[in-house]
Amino acid sequence: VSMTDLIWDGLVKRYRSKTTHRILTDAQMIVIRDGLADSYEARMVALVADYTAGRIATVTWEDRFLTLIVEAASHGFVFGRGGAALMTNADWDELAVTVAKQTSYGGRFLSELEASIDAQRGTTPLKAIRTALEARTAARASLYAGAAVEGYERGHAAAQGTPTNRLTLPVYPADGGTTCMSRCRCNWIIKGDEEARVWNAHWQTEHDEKVCDGCKGRGELYASVTVPM
Ligand SMILES: [Zn+2]
Repeated sequence: VSMTDLIWDGLVKRYRSKTTHRILTDAQMIVIRDGLADSYEARMVALVADYTAGRIATVTWEDRFLTLIVEAASHGFVFGRGGAALMTNADWDELAVTVAKQTSYGGRFLSELEASIDAQRGTTPLKAIRTALEARTAARASLYAGAAVEGYERGHAAAQGTPTNRLTLPVYPADGGTTCMSRCRCNWIIKGDEEARVWNAHWQTEHDEKVCDGCKGRGELYASVTVPM
């Protein structure tokens, strides 16, 4: 299933396939979410390679890298929310806070990278410094694609609520609160129970060895979250 085949169903607050008309499962949505993050990751890694190879100026690199983080968070949020038309003021506010936080993580990377270049300047040719940094910076750049994951998870939670009854959860995947930082690919599973007037949510960790202790802890702490509607 690709993003272009999806249409939001406001009644069930889920996406449907335009082709099969079936509602997508949580698992299918996570695959699409992660594909979105992967596409931003590839662009971030390519961009830092342009910088370390000296193909783009520092100011261009900084500007484009931060822009990619903003785009990743926004794209994820709006997609999770069900489309830009459904975004409320509260959604834009929540997205703005997420963008500010994710770009501040990115800003730390920018200044650390420049500081490490500056520290070697004078003793090592710039080209050699940059080549030495290449592998490390590629791995580091890939971290920031998690902005799409946090954005998506926030948008998805907000989509389950109503403008007068907003659903927010205590923490979100890739929010920077776990040691895996933005590498996190955990997710929230949310089910609305209209009769009981509650949302039932639980934190689902990735089913592989990449899960950090912080995420495992969240999986236990948030195994069953009940939020009144
Ligand atoms: Zn995680």
